[in-house]
Amino acid sequence: PQPRRADSVGFAIVGLGGYALNQMMPRFERAERAHIAALVSGNPEKLQRVGDAYGVPPESRYSYDDFDRIASNKDVDAAYIVLPSGLHADWTERAFAAGKHVLCEKPMALSSAECERMIAASQRADRRLMIAYRCHFEPYNLKAMELIREEAVGKLRLIRTQQSYRMGPTSPSQNWRVDRTLAGGGPLEDYGIYGLQAALYLSGEMPESITAATYQPAADPRFAEIFAHVSSQLRFPSGAVAQLATSYDAAPINEVDARGSSGALLMQPATNYSGLDMVLESGGESRAFSPGDSTVQFARQLDHLADAIRDGSEIITPGEMGLRDLRLMEAIYASAGTGRTMLL
Ligand code: NDP
Repeated sequence: PQPRRADSVGFAIVGLGGYALNQMMPRFERAERAHIAALVSGNPEKLQRVGDAYGVPPESRYSYDDFDRIASNKDVDAAYIVLPSGLHADWTERAFAAGKHVLCEKPMALSSAECERMIAASQRADRRLMIAYRCHFEPYNLKAMELIREEAVGKLRLIRTQQSYRMGPTSPSQNWRVDRTLAGGGPLEDYGIYGLQAALYLSGEMPESITAATYQPAADPRFAEIFAHVSSQLRFPSGAVAQLATSYDAAPINEVDARGSSGALLMQPATNYSGLDMVLESGGESRAFSPGDSTVQFARQLDHLADAIRDGSEIITPGEMGLRDLRLMEAIYASAGTGRTMLL
C-alpha cells in the first residue's frame, strides 16, 4: 500500500455486504486521498475478521447499536452507506447527526421524500453528501459523454438501454432485493437506474414526458412484492426518445445504444465494474474505443468526495442528482400504475 497522505479522508464502511467486501473495500488501496478508518456491521464475527484483515483497530469497529459513538472518533471523516437501499435514508441521517460526511450508494433512497430529508440533514449538519454513481468516474462512460456531446453520432435521436439478469429462486424473507420495504419496486432502483442515468448523462437533457409499464407475475415468490420488469419511454425536449428496460427475470444484458442522425454508439457491457466494450458506428465504419481502465471508477469516486470535503469543491453526483432520479422513478411507476403519460 502507498503511504497515507496526512490529509487523507477516513471512511467508515457501514454494512459489510457483497459490494462493500468484494468491490469497494479492496479498491481503497488505489485511492490517493481516502482510506478505511472504521467498520460498521451487525455481524460480530465478520466485524472481527474484516477488521483484522484491513487493520482497523478494535475501537473503530461498531455494531449498528453503538454506531452513534462514532461521533467522537476523530479518525472518521465520512460514512460510506452501503446497506440495503431502504436503509440509506435513516443511516445517512444518523451519519450526519454524528457529524460525518456521507457517500451513499445508489439508489439514494426509495422515495423523493426520503431524498429531501437526506439533503436537509446534510445542510443542517453542514456536511457533504455524495451519491455513489460510479459511472461518472468511469473512462468508457466519460468518453461516451464526450463523443455524444461532440456529435460523433450526429444529433442524438434514440437511446435504448437494457439492464437485466435472471434472479434465482428466492423470497422476501431470504433476499432484501425482493423485499419491497428494502428494495422499492426492484430492478429499476437496483439495476435499471444505470440505464436511466445513461439516458440523462448522454443526452444531457431532462425528459419532458414519461410513459411506462411494469409486470409482476402472480404466484412467483421472487415477485411477491416487487416487479419482474420495468420498461419506460422518455421524451426529451430536443425530440430524442429513450427506451429503458430492466428485468430480474430475463437473460443477462447491460447495454446502452445511443443512436443519432449519422451514427450510433454501442456499449455492451455498458456499466459493469470492468470489461466494458464500446463501438462507434458511423459512415459505414466501426471504431472500437478503449479509453482506459474501468476499475479506476471506484477509487476516483472516493478521491472526488475527499477533495470536496477538503476544499469545498463541487460534487458532480450530489444528493440533488439522487433526488432527481427518484423523482423520475416515481414518475415511471405513476405512469405504469395509471396507464397515463406523465408530463414533467
Ligand atoms: P448485500 O446484501 O450483499 O449486503 C448488504 C449488507 O447490509 C449486509 O451484508 C449487512 O451487512 C447489511 N444489512 C444491514 N441490515 C440488513 C438487512 N435488514 N438485510 C440485509 N442486509 C442488511 O447487498 P449489496 O452489497 O449488494 O448492496 C448494498 C448496497 O449497495 C445497495 O444499496 C445496492 O444498491 C448498492 N450496490 C451498488 C453497486 C454499485 O455498483 N454501485 C453494486 C452493488 C450494490 P452486515 O452483515 O455487515 O451487517
